[in-house]
Amino acid sequence: MDVKDLPTPAYVVDEDKLIKNLEVLSALQNATGCKILLAQKAFSCFHYYPLIKKYVCGATSSGLYEARLAAEEMGGENHVYSPAYTDAEFDEIAGLCTHIVFNSFAQLKKFHSRAAGKSLGMRVNPQCSTQKTSAYDPCAYGSRLGVVSSAFESEYLPLLQGLHFHTLCEQSAEDLKTTLTAFEKNFGKYLKGMKWLNVGGGHHITKEGYNIPLLEKLIDGLQQKYGVTVYLEPGEAFALNAGYLVAKVLEIVKNDIYVAILDCSAECHMPDVLEMPYRPPLFGSGEAGEKKYLYRLSSRTCLAGDVIGDYSFDAPLKEGDVLVFGDMAIYTMVKNNTFNGMPLPAIIGKKGEKYHIIKTFGYEDFKGRLS
Ligand SMILES: *Cc1c(COP(=O)(O)O)cnc(C)c1O
Repeated sequence: MDVKDLPTPAYVVDEDKLIKNLEVLSALQNATGCKILLAQKAFSCFHYYPLIKKYVCGATSSGLYEARLAAEEMGGENHVYSPAYTDAEFDEIAGLCTHIVFNSFAQLKKFHSRAAGKSLGMRVNPQCSTQKTSAYDPCAYGSRLGVVSSAFESEYLPLLQGLHFHTLCEQSAEDLKTTLTAFEKNFGKYLKGMKWLNVGGGHHITKEGYNIPLLEKLIDGLQQKYGVTVYLEPGEAFALNAGYLVAKVLEIVKNDIYVAILDCSAECHMPDVLEMPYRPPLFGSGEAGEKKYLYRLSSRTCLAGDVIGDYSFDAPLKEGDVLVFGDMAIYTMVKNNTFNGMPLPAIIGKKGEKYHIIKTFGYEDFKGRLS
């Protein structure tokens, strides 16, 4: 099967690239003795969970459904953190998970007696912003995420085996270092006698240029100073640049500029393009104005703003042309939707030069979540 013969739209997961990322993560575990978990929120493509499990310790979940998916498809350590657990879900979560992280002392008090034998932790908020986008900053003003130092109820420390913080998004080891200074100042004293410290996700470990030696140094330092096991739970770093979204040109219209209508949608299939927002990389294209032929790439939904971006090409686009967007494994399959009755992209695996269809979706997937 050639890329031109794939059903479109389709997410393609590049297994070789995924393995390259997994090797980087597993090398970090080996070098430091830290433990790495897949944050399923970014990438829940469970077809690859058995592969991922060969390299890391397990997964982390944001609630019952992810916890169940990890238990069914991955095994190993299964951590969970939720800003608030529900009474109805908690017992099942406690049955599935090895580590349970709470977001407040009220939640700990409410549920700890129903989690006997589990390793319990508290998410804290170091109140140290190292990024500018407040939507991705758990340390922003008014954040609900994590206990701030003034609200820490140290009399409940005996119930806790670990602390957790998550403050980064696509960030460097230098930003982790800055965060650790703030964390240690306010919460370091509570780590005495604890088993683990989870430093969350948002570490762009598999990105070119990431300072892995510094990360290793920080992890070593924490483990030696406090006698804890350090956990990292990246999502994005697992499948960074390990997937594509393949789409076809359906029509070209002209109104002020040339607009190509594709069979994929930013709104439905790559929502972060509109939410973050960002301009996804597209193979064989240039910035607007860089190459001779300029097109606005858009979708066949009715939403005027369902625009992927302006791209230029060496040759005019035509009906049937196949376009391949890059870095489409993370925060795509887990966030897509069938707005406007759009079909969901197929999920396809690529190994070497060979493609294989993992799953296709149809009308029943659209109808199944409506009534
Ligand atoms: C989102 C999230 C992660 C993963 O973040 P990435 O940016 O995908 O690495 C890990 N832990 C928590 C608590 C999160 O909310």
